[in-house]
Amino acid sequence: MYAFRYHRPSSMKDALALGSQNEEGKYLAGGQSLVPILAFRLAAPKLLVDLRKLTDLRAIKITPDGVVLGAMARWCDIESDARLRTAHPLLVAAIAHVAHYQIRNRGTVGGSIAHADPAAEMPGIAMTCEAEIAVMGKAGPRTIKAADFFQGALTTALKGDEIIVEIRLPPWPDGRRWGFQEFARRRGDFALAAAALFYDTDVAGKATNAHVGVIGVADRPRRLPSVEAVLNGAAVDAATIAKAEATTTAAIDPDSDIHASGAYRKALAGTMVERALKMAVEQTP
Ligand SMILES: Cc1cc2nc3c(=O)[nH]c(=O)nc-3n(C[C@H](O)[C@H](O)[C@H](O)COP(=O)(O)OP(=O)(O)OC[C@H]3O[C@@H](n4cnc5c(N)ncnc54)[C@H](O)[C@@H]3O)c2cc1C
Repeated sequence: MYAFRYHRPSSMKDALALGSQNEEGKYLAGGQSLVPILAFRLAAPKLLVDLRKLTDLRAIKITPDGVVLGAMARWCDIESDARLRTAHPLLVAAIAHVAHYQIRNRGTVGGSIAHADPAAEMPGIAMTCEAEIAVMGKAGPRTIKAADFFQGALTTALKGDEIIVEIRLPPWPDGRRWGFQEFARRRGDFALAAAALFYDTDVAGKATNAHVGVIGVADRPRRLPSVEAVLNGAAVDAATIAKAEATTTAAIDPDSDIHASGAYRKALAGTMVERALKMAVEQTP
């Protein structure tokens, strides 16, 4: 590792003071994305400001307004929090696919949102669920909608000095149907493609309020309004699911890379939406 300065402040005020005074600095959370980047010399910040002592940022709160994930909550904290299995089952199902045991013990929600890998699960859940991202900077606090936050691969609306404080997921009503499906080459690898979705049902059993997101098929996680339109007002039966799958593949145009061709990813995303819808239908609400 190259030489850099390291600080571990105990307060948000001190962290912001360090972060805003040093243009060549970076915040450090779990280090599971940043440290490999430094090791490969893809970035070489001169200062790391470790957020580990900001213990207030570790909380996971279940409130009437939804689930609030502190930025420093780790994957293993979400996994072991039994309340979340009913408060936000889609989140829990998605996070089960993140990385491996050792990484899950250190990697954080805020680090993943700030890193904005297009194939990462947490940004996909934030986008699908219309999360709000609360940040603090030298200019004060602000809240950014997930749809405005992710601006491209590893690119976000965060300003250099801003620290993500929490991620707010809207309330999850009883009886909501949901599905999460992911395909990766090995368990714990980043998704080649994944689908996260949910819908509520009206008195006639038809879908309402459909939210459909895909991960790993564009430069950022995407919601698919055309697929949501297929579901809203429809009975989610075999014909609707087939239409949703076809509409998914028509709505995306993934690039090819060393892991998969664009055509493969396109077909795979359709299959992930199909399987996620079948999962939702088979649930006992
Ligand atoms: C082998 C391997 C496999 C992985 N597989 C997956 C996977 O399948 N799915 C997945 O989603 N992730 C995966 N990851 C990434 C892992 O989940 C990371 O933990 C996560 O992306 C980043 O979280 P972190 O806390 O480690 O952040 P760090 O690495 O510490 O930081 C990442 C970036 O976020 C910034 N940052 C961190 N916290 C904040 C904050 N509160 N405010 C502002 N900026 C902040 C940092 O400055 C840095 O730019 C994998 C990692 C490895 C090494």
